[in-house]
Amino acid sequence: TSYNLQVKIKCKICQGITEYSNESPNAQFSSLAAGAGLVGGVNRQQLQTIFSIIGITAQSSKGHYHSKQNEYLEKINKEAEISAQIALSKAIAHIKAKGERVLPTSFDCSWSHCRNANQASGELIFQGNLDGYNHKPVIAFATSEKPRKLKKKNGEEYEVFHGNHEKTSRQMEHAILLQIIEKIVPILEAADVLLDIGVDGDLNSNKTLNNIPCVSKVYADLKHVGKNIMAKIAKSSMWKDYENTIMTYYNSCVYAASGRKLDENKITVSDAELEKVQIDGLVAHLSDDHSLCWDEVCWRKDNPDIQLKAPHLKEYTPNQREKFRQFLKECFYISTKQSLITHIRTSYNEAFNRVKLCFQDKKIDYWKTYSTRHALAILQYN
Ligand SMILES: [Zn+2]
Ligand SMILES: [Zn+2]
Repeated sequence: TSYNLQVKIKCKICQGITEYSNESPNAQFSSLAAGAGLVGGVNRQQLQTIFSIIGITAQSSKGHYHSKQNEYLEKINKEAEISAQIALSKAIAHIKAKGERVLPTSFDCSWSHCRNANQASGELIFQGNLDGYNHKPVIAFATSEKPRKLKKKNGEEYEVFHGNHEKTSRQMEHAILLQIIEKIVPILEAADVLLDIGVDGDLNSNKTLNNIPCVSKVYADLKHVGKNIMAKIAKSSMWKDYENTIMTYYNSCVYAASGRKLDENKITVSDAELEKVQIDGLVAHLSDDHSLCWDEVCWRKDNPDIQLKAPHLKEYTPNQREKFRQFLKECFYISTKQSLITHIRTSYNEAFNRVKLCFQDKKIDYWKTYSTRHALAILQYN
């Protein structure tokens, strides 16, 4: 059995033959099947199995399937590009309508089927809500793909896919970020708009982004930074019981500083001031001295009768308190020197990474259709 059905009717009187087919000449089933494989997030073997189970055993050959699939690739990639451009224009119009000129965004990147794989993709997400969008939209994206080489029987290598990345997998994130910046800089410059970018903690994007005039500031993601700090605290036999106490105070300070930044009536806190209250403020706070604590962070300030919860440092000597202070300093050190005072969160990028998984099964290495499957995720999401 095949997809298409042909019916021939011969007239007994005039001998005329009328043909009917469920396949329209504009949409051949073999072409639709190849498209279904892309949209459905499966490869040829998987699709073949799916069709066989429902009884369609006569299917396109491997070569035919792939040539039909190739017809889609460029068109889908182009559509996704247009979709991101539209979202970017709308985002710019959105902030301009509010009298602002800095576009808050977040960037993240993920590998195809395993870390340091041959393909990776990344997106820049606008942190605001746009009319007509269910999510924070993707305003730019890029993929980084290494060449794909196969070996002949005689051991000779030949290239079947060129890609756009010759360097190591570690440099892929930077390559993707640069591609994205390259795409949007002309648009930002024309609109006289700057960019704020939030990145997750592992990426030292400062080097990449510092020389780009459109980039106003790069921020670290609190969740990511927090995870690294918790890992450091857990390693300390001396202070590991203080993990919750430290993290609660640390995060509350970041939220308070970010809140003050948005509030026109409050003075914006610098990164150095934030770090000072997170370290010296916490040491004093746990020693029951709340003079450094911020109102938003410490309720003890206005309620001195309430007992300080354990663990604290009340019974500790000044020497031990200084050790705790040094410990905090080491834990809180951010090598990338990125600011935390922001409402930009990369959690929207993580949500998008799950959409990518619908189109790019992590078990499969889609070397040829990778960028198109990524483009489909963009189209679905935007
Ligand atoms: Zn007839
Ligand atoms: Zn306090």
